[in-house]
Amino acid sequence: MVEDQIRRRGIRDERVLSAMEEVPRHLFVPEEIRHLAYTDAPLPIGEGQTISQPYIVAEMTAALRLSGTEKVLEIGTGSGYQTAILARLCRELETIERLPSLSADARVRLATMDIGNVTFVVGDGSLGSPGHAPFDRILSAAASPSVPAPWVSQLSEGGVIVLPVGDRYEQELTRVTLRCGRTETEVLGGCRFVPLVGMYGFHR
Ligand code: SAH
Repeated sequence: MVEDQIRRRGIRDERVLSAMEEVPRHLFVPEEIRHLAYTDAPLPIGEGQTISQPYIVAEMTAALRLSGTEKVLEIGTGSGYQTAILARLCRELETIERLPSLSADARVRLATMDIGNVTFVVGDGSLGSPGHAPFDRILSAAASPSVPAPWVSQLSEGGVIVLPVGDRYEQELTRVTLRCGRTETEVLGGCRFVPLVGMYGFHR
């Protein structure tokens, strides 16, 4: 999977590639479709949600440019697959999921993998996590019509947000960097994610 789907498509960050080699994706998909775990596609994880395509997880993780010292906020825990990868690449991670059952399952998976630097929160991640800000990086695996204002205000100087921005059906993977109090925005490419459902995302 890492060679064919990720390295070959141009992801060169060795830390990201080895984290993806170490986290077994089959532990994050439902038992009935476990044989599909290493295919080049998103897969259903229940509750109408999906585990992202491996390449997209790699692309978003690489776009964050993590060195290992960062405090990170992830929105949309889902299966916990990207959570497990991010946890290996940063100092401290908080992950927010709006659906309690997904969050609970992800928490169990990461506990069995002995990952200890992650805090799981159930709630509306479009609000960020004001009590624990600032964050050096914010990553969203759910698509938003615009960059939620609370995320920008909870970002540290030099910090980076990576998220899909667009309508409910198609989006652009977007990187926002905060420099000297101003945001710089880059579009990294087209993508398709489930919607961010919440106060600063889409309404139900
Ligand atoms: N990276 C995850 C992707 C999960 S899909 C994985 O690979 O498994 C995105 C997740 O965002 C879904 O689980 C969805 O329930 C969640 N989500 C949507 N809106 C949210 C919100 N406002 N706050 C937190 N989580 C949200």
